[in-house]
Amino acid sequence: MHKIALVPGDGIGREVIPAAMRVLESTGIGFEFNPVEVGFDVFKTHGTSVPDEAVEAILENDACLFGATTTPVDVKNYRSAIVTLRRALNVYANVRPAKSYPFPGVRESIDLVVVRENTEGLYSGIEYGNNDSAFTVWVIKRKATEKIARYAFELAMKRKRHVTIATKANIMRKTCGLFREVCLEVAEEYPEVEVNQLFIDVAAMNMVMKPQAYDVIVTANLFGDILSDLSAGLVGGLGLAPSSNIGDNFGLFEPVHGSAPDIAGKGIANPIAAFLSTKLMLDYLGENNWAERLEEAIIDVLSDGQVLTPDLGGSASTSDVTDTVIKTMKL
Ligand code: NAD
Repeated sequence: MHKIALVPGDGIGREVIPAAMRVLESTGIGFEFNPVEVGFDVFKTHGTSVPDEAVEAILENDACLFGATTTPVDVKNYRSAIVTLRRALNVYANVRPAKSYPFPGVRESIDLVVVRENTEGLYSGIEYGNNDSAFTVWVIKRKATEKIARYAFELAMKRKRHVTIATKANIMRKTCGLFREVCLEVAEEYPEVEVNQLFIDVAAMNMVMKPQAYDVIVTANLFGDILSDLSAGLVGGLGLAPSSNIGDNFGLFEPVHGSAPDIAGKGIANPIAAFLSTKLMLDYLGENNWAERLEEAIIDVLSDGQVLTPDLGGSASTSDVTDTVIKTMKL
């Protein structure tokens, strides 16, 4: 029996997480689901999007499946629930794979992972200013950088043994300079891994022109956020982009997408990003057989092309795709 904290959040999070729960229930593995609320409604009553009790409740579980939360830009003092949660849970590695599944229009043979530092960088939350000037502090610390670099190199050892370190160390010499320096120090512990250093602008261009050349990309918080959406765009878009947030003792799994207010409530959100995140969670929990079966079912459904949501050119609903994935997984 695995205990799972379910944090659906807002918008399509409330559609794709129940769909993922149905997939998990259909395996018969045995899950205890414990819902936890975070986000703007919680902020209105508690003055914070993620109260301490929510963090404690999540940590009572073996892992967390998170949907998406809306972050209103015009509410003063509001901090994104997911950014707050990543830091509170100290899930320092945001791991975002981009893989070419058999699907028309997708760039072929891409199999890369963006490993994004998840707890500091430009998402430090340290900001000040007035009507004339404003400042956000980019925080890089040796300890957090060592952890993310080691995670990236360990991951590369299980994959194609290639790591790209993407920074802007030529301009942001202190922050990106330290990030680069620490990554290169850690690289020395992994002589089997080939290392490539790129500036983030070139890394982005290469991502468009020759994404097949990448294996693992290690980078700071903001850079990783942008680069992973770019990589998602090459392999079918946000409806197919999963992620995990890994710490020393806990994992939170979530689709890369946000709450998608433009389609929320219409029943047409693509649940596959949430299913692929569920696959990552099954691997984390040691349920590798079901993880593989789920991924194979998703590949079958995508390549069959009959039951797809509108973002992939189809006309199926979230529940149609969910039913089809469950049926295919159990064949
Ligand atoms: P978004 O990811 O919500 O949506 C971007 C576009 O992709 C939209 O057109 C949307 O319809 C489409 N899309 C996203 N997921 C889809 C899916 N599963 N199926 C079909 N189409 C999908 O990004 P946004 O519009 O920039 O942000 C909306 C809200 O979500 C904002 O408040 C933002 O702060 C928040 N957000 C939250 C997270 C998170 O909680 N992890 C991540 C990103 C954005």
